[in-house]
This record gives sequence, C-alpha cells and structure tokens, in this order.
Amino acid sequence: MAQDNSLMDAIVSLCKRRGFAFQSSEIYGGLRGLWDYGPLGVELKRNIKEAWWRDMITTHDELEQPQGAPSAFQMVGIESSIIMHPRVWKTSGHYDLFHDSMVDCRESKKRYRYDHVKGRWVTYEGNKIFITIAGDEDDLQDALNVRALQYFGLKAKYADKLEWEGEISDLPTVKDHSQVVGPDTKELGTLTEPREFNLMFETYIGAMRDEDNKAFLRPETAQGMFVNFKNIIDSNRVKVPFGIAQQGKSFRNEITPRNFTFRSREFEQMEMEFFCHPDDSFKWYTYWRDRRFKWYTDLGIDASKLILRDHEKDELSHYSVGTADVEYAFPFCEEGEFGELEGVAHRGDFDLRSHMEGKLVREGDELVVEKDEEGNPRYPGSGKDLTFYNDETKERFVPHVIEPAAGADRTVLAFICNAYNEETVTNEKGKEETRIVMKFHPRIAPYKVGVFPLLKNKPELVAKAREVCNLLRPYMAVFYDEGGAIGRRYRRQDEAGTPYGVTIDFDTLGEKDTADKDTVTLRDRDTMEQTRMPISELLAFLLEKIR
Ligand code: ATP
Repeated sequence: MAQDNSLMDAIVSLCKRRGFAFQSSEIYGGLRGLWDYGPLGVELKRNIKEAWWRDMITTHDELEQPQGAPSAFQMVGIESSIIMHPRVWKTSGHYDLFHDSMVDCRESKKRYRYDHVKGRWVTYEGNKIFITIAGDEDDLQDALNVRALQYFGLKAKYADKLEWEGEISDLPTVKDHSQVVGPDTKELGTLTEPREFNLMFETYIGAMRDEDNKAFLRPETAQGMFVNFKNIIDSNRVKVPFGIAQQGKSFRNEITPRNFTFRSREFEQMEMEFFCHPDDSFKWYTYWRDRRFKWYTDLGIDASKLILRDHEKDELSHYSVGTADVEYAFPFCEEGEFGELEGVAHRGDFDLRSHMEGKLVREGDELVVEKDEEGNPRYPGSGKDLTFYNDETKERFVPHVIEPAAGADRTVLAFICNAYNEETVTNEKGKEETRIVMKFHPRIAPYKVGVFPLLKNKPELVAKAREVCNLLRPYMAVFYDEGGAIGRRYRRQDEAGTPYGVTIDFDTLGEKDTADKDTVTLRDRDTMEQTRMPISELLAFLLEKIR
C-alpha cells in the first residue's frame, strides 16, 4: 500500500472527534509524543490488552501442548515497578547503548535525529550546497525547492535556475558539514557533528538530586521479568520451559516522536520472556514467531497488510541470534514499507548471564563480561545464581530466552487503521452519503452493542430499552442512546465500531402483533442487515460473537 496521508488525517480526525485519542495536555498546546485515550480508545486498548493477556496467560493450559509447540509449558504474569535499580540498566546495556545519534543546529537551536535529516545537492550560479529538511513532507523535492529558493533569496519563478544533483539522501551520506544548510536555518554549516543522546528519562530517588540518586524510567518492561526470574521459580514451582509476561508503561525520550501514537515518548508494552533449554531454543523461537503473527490476523488484521520480517544478520542486536518483526502497512508508510508492531527475538542467555555475571559484550562469537581498566566487570551483575536445575535430567543450565515484545499503543493504532472504512450508502431519504464505519473484531470493539428505544418520549419504549441494557451490562460494554433519528444513532455507533445495534420498537411492546412481543431489531454493523430476535436469545447470541 502506498503512503496515504489523507487517509491518515481522516483517521486522526475521527480519533479526536469520537474520543479515541487526544493529544496530551491539549488545552496548554499539547506535548509532542504524549497522548491521552478518550472513552472509546480506553475501552479498545483494554480489550486488546485483555485479548493478549488471555492468549498468553489466562486461557493457557499448562498441561496441554499447543499446536506447533515443542512441548507443554507454563505461563505466569507479573507487574514490576517502573523505576528499577539503576544497575539493572547498566547491566542490560541500556545505560551505554540505548542511544540515538543527534545533530544540533547552532543557529535555530533545534535538535534532529541524524538519520532523519534528508537533503540534496543543489547549485546556483556556481554556489553548491547540500540543502536539507527534517520533516515528513509529502513531496520531499517540493520542500527542498522551497528551502533552496529561500537560501539563495530567489523568487519561485527562478526555480528552474537551480541545478539539482543526485538523489535525495540522508545527512550521514555527506562528509563535510560545512556545505550543509540545516532544516530550519538560512546559514551554511550550522549543524554540529552527530552526538549520542540517551533515550532514557532520568529522575532522582529521594531528596538529593545527585549522581548517586539518579534513576531511570524503564525504557522496556522486559527487565522486570529477568530480575524476577529467581523469585518466580522459587515462589511458583515453575519449570523450564515457562514464560513470564507483563504489560505496562515504558518511556523513551524519542527525538522525533511522530506518526500519531506510533512513536510516542510514553507508551505501553506487552512483553513475554520465555525461558527454555538452549537445545530447544530455535524450535521455541519459530513457535512464538508464528503464534504471535497469527494473533493479529485472528483478531481481524488484514493479512495482506501484515508481514513477518526476519532481521538481516547485520540488523541483529549484539546478543540476538535471530529476530523477526511483525509489521503492519500503516497508511503513513511509504509504498512497500511497514511499521513494527512487535519484535520476536531469540536473546540467547544474554539477559540472565548479564544479571548474574555483569554486562556482556560480544568478542567474536562469544559473549564475555565487559571489563574495566583493572580487569573487573565494568558493570557487575547481581552475583545471584540465575541458572535452572532440572531435577529429572540432573542438568544445570542458563536458560535461553525468546522474547515476543509488542507495543500496546502501536497495536491499538494498527487495529484502528485496519478498522477504518469509508463506504457510499443510500440513506433513508434515498440520497447517497458516506458512511464511516470502524470494523473492529467484536472481541476488541469498545462497545459490543448499542441499545436504542425507537422514540425517547415513549416511556414504555425507554423502560424496555433500559431493561435490555440491564440484561446485557453485566456481561459486556453497552452503549445506550435515545437521542435523534434512529439512522443517525446507527451511524454514530458505526463510527465507534459497535458491532451490533438493538432497537426497541412498538413491535417489542407487542402493540400491533403479539407474535413480535419481546423481540427486538438487531442490526449488524458491517452488513447493515436488520433481523428480529427474541430478547431471551440476545445475550447468548452476543456472548458467542464477542467471545
Ligand atoms: P523502533 O525500532 O520502532 O524504535 P524498537 O525495535 O526499538 O522499535 P522494541 O525495543 O523492540 O522496539 O520494543 C518492542 C515494541 O515496543 C515495539 O515493537 C513497539 O511496538 C513498541 N515501541 C517501542 N518504541 C515505541 C515508541 N516510541 N512508541 C510506541 N511504541 C513503541
């Protein structure tokens, strides 16, 4: 799918209009990379997280071997703290390695991600410069033209005097920064050399704001599982293979948050660390990779827009022996490009060994403890025994880890983009109109059913509708709406993605024909078909659909 900014704009606008998501602190001008979910968004996100949790933990049967799995296994959940011991991040490598390369502009005082600054060589009257932009403009060349005209002080009609060379390329391809015009300046050579910028948010524990009390907001939830590995084994009698899962907030001071909630500074992750015997680790890696891909399609993501992409060898983290990403063709992606929803990584024994022995680095094919000048571990581990002893085989080993790490907010965004449909329909007056309908899988839809009395000024209809609400509410999220024409109420629920509508009309009251007494009109969101159903069958029908 090609990049479609107008589609993305329509989706963002619907999200705001209907209360899926708002910019954080909007009345104060908002904050980049931070988002609030509204009433519909929060229900959608809760349902998605619940679907993940059920798949990973609650519906998991530890005695049964799931199809395709190398054996039966156990699964448990945890919730660890957001601020962890600072040594966790030193040992994990985040303190040293969790960086983005940045360039600053001395003139505009702006900071850009090095690899996001793009530009092209241009010459005017023998004066050759590399002119840059750092935005997501639809037409990069158009934006570069405007910048070049500005730089040379030319009117638009002189655009054909500009001699462009080569292709649009990244700043890193330019060796000499003195020839570069930064994205927001008219001066030459104002961009600094790239510098490393750690993405972890810093804070302080206690009253003293000094180095000793410095701590970090976690940039991932995964470390909570590794540091609790021993606690879980000791308290829950789990045996390898088993998984520990958690959902929770993570924080990354992203340099260029963008594409709505896709790249945020505060976001939620759904991660699982699966501990297994090293000999079986590749079988488990394949199992989790395929299973996680299927989870998205089972919940209605269009398989033609989803890919499972194996990382090339040079893309792998220093500890990883294999990684595959589940990626979705978001409307903001360029043709043939996708955005990552989840990474499934084979992490070997990197994490447990690091937390035992000290931060590991790669030396050839080996992972070895990084040493300081005196030959001591640069960042020592906990020194605790994080091995597993199999009392049947009498073998002690450091388990290998497979990690499916998904982002809850990116998943929400993918489900929103996937659900968005514009259809041309004929309204009650015979006129064509556009129907915006969010086709969420019933299991994740924010509301499962809308209940509508045909008229709000007929107390008998309202009373019956309230009765139907009370029947369904203990089991599912119900939206009650008595305002406006019934067609408009249906449309509002189409935009909210409510899969079913139930209308209580005069037939329900049995006023005309007693055969229809206590039946309702059931409307299907996707087909718009309306059928009659006895109230007594409604709950079972809906429960079956949303299961
Ligand atoms: P990216 O390459 O897009 O920055 P990543 O590979 O660093 O992502 P991981 O560290 O593997 O991401 O994190 C696991 C998941 O957490 C990602 O697949 C994504 O869904 C989510 N995630 C990571 N960073 C962000 C972010 N800034 N905003 C929203 N979700 C994020």
